Amino acid sequence: MAAVMEQSTMPAAPEVRIRNLSVAYQTSTGLFDAVHKLDLDIPKASITAVIGESGSGKSTLAMAMLNSVTFPGSIRSGTIEYAGRGDIVTFDRERLRRFRGEHAAMVFQASQDTLNPLKRVGAQLLDLARSHGVKDKRKVLREARELAERMALPADRTLTSYQHELSGGMRQRVSIIFALALHPQIVLLDEPTTALDVLSQSHVLEIIREIHRERGLTTLLITHDMGVVAELSDRVVVMYAGRIAEDAPSRELLRRPLHPYSQALIRAIPRLTGPLDDAQALPGAPLELRQIPKAGCVFRDRCPARMPVCDTGTPELREVAPGRRVACHLEVTP
Ligand code: SF4
Repeated sequence: MAAVMEQSTMPAAPEVRIRNLSVAYQTSTGLFDAVHKLDLDIPKASITAVIGESGSGKSTLAMAMLNSVTFPGSIRSGTIEYAGRGDIVTFDRERLRRFRGEHAAMVFQASQDTLNPLKRVGAQLLDLARSHGVKDKRKVLREARELAERMALPADRTLTSYQHELSGGMRQRVSIIFALALHPQIVLLDEPTTALDVLSQSHVLEIIREIHRERGLTTLLITHDMGVVAELSDRVVVMYAGRIAEDAPSRELLRRPLHPYSQALIRAIPRLTGPLDDAQALPGAPLELRQIPKAGCVFRDRCPARMPVCDTGTPELREVAPGRRVACHLEVTP
C-alpha cells in the first residue's frame, strides 16, 4: 500500500460545513433516509475520502453537496455551507448553475456516459465555457489540451472526437477534464477511476493528486477502495447506512481503526504478500434503506463486539481525539 500523503493531525478551517443533513428517497413503502442527520466539516485544501460499501450513502452525500439530488430523492433537512458562498441548499436554480462548474464540480461514476453524443468534445467544452460567461475560451481549450496530454490522451484527437469514438477509459478522463476546465475550488470525484484498468487508475490518481496540489483544491473522493484512500487522501470518512461511523486522518485510521466497521473494511483488504485468505470478507450484507433500524446501532447485526446497549441506544458520533470521531458505544482509545 502506498504511503499516505503528509498531513497534520489538526484539520484546517473547513471549506465545507455540513450540519444535520438528511437526504431521503421516496419508495412504494415510505420515505427512507439514505443520509441521516450527518454533520461533517471538509477542511480547505484537503483530500477527504468517503468510504463504505454500496448503499452506505456516500454517492448521495456527494450529490447533496451540489444540491443535485433528484426525484425520488430530496434533501429533507440540514445546511451545506461553502466558505464565503453560503448555504447551497437555499440557492435558486441560476445561482446553483453558476456555482456548479465555477466553484464546485463533480466527476460522476461512469460519467463517460454523460457526454453529449451529438457534439465533439471540444465543442462541448466551448459550450460549457460560454454558459459560464468565460471570455477567454482559447485558454479553456489550451488548458484542456494540457490536461489531456498529462492524462496520456492524444489532445487533438480527443477534442475533435465524438464520445463514441473514444474508449470508456478515455471518456472517463475527458470527464475529469470537464470537471477541472473552469478552475473550480472544490472537486467531488465519485469513483473516478472505476472505468480504467489498474495501470491507468494509478496514473490518473497521480494526476489528480498533482492538480489538487498545484491548484490548492479541496477534493472529496468517493471510493470503496482502501488502497485509493491510502494512496491519495488526508482524511477519511467511513460511512455505513447513511451515517458516519468514523472520521479520522487517513494515516491514523489505517494504522488503528477504532470503529468495528472500519476494522472490518481494513481486514477485508487483500494483502500483496502472505496467505491470500488473510483477507477476511465482511460478514453479512449492507442494509437496504427500508431495513435501517430507527433506534440502536445500525451496524449491530454485523458487529462482532455487539452489546445489549447497541440494540436500543443509538451511538453518538463523538470526538475521541482532536480531529477524530467515532460512533460506537465501545470505550475506544486512539
Ligand atoms: Fe458494534 Fe455496538 Fe459499536 Fe455498534 S455500537 S459498532 S454494535 S459495539
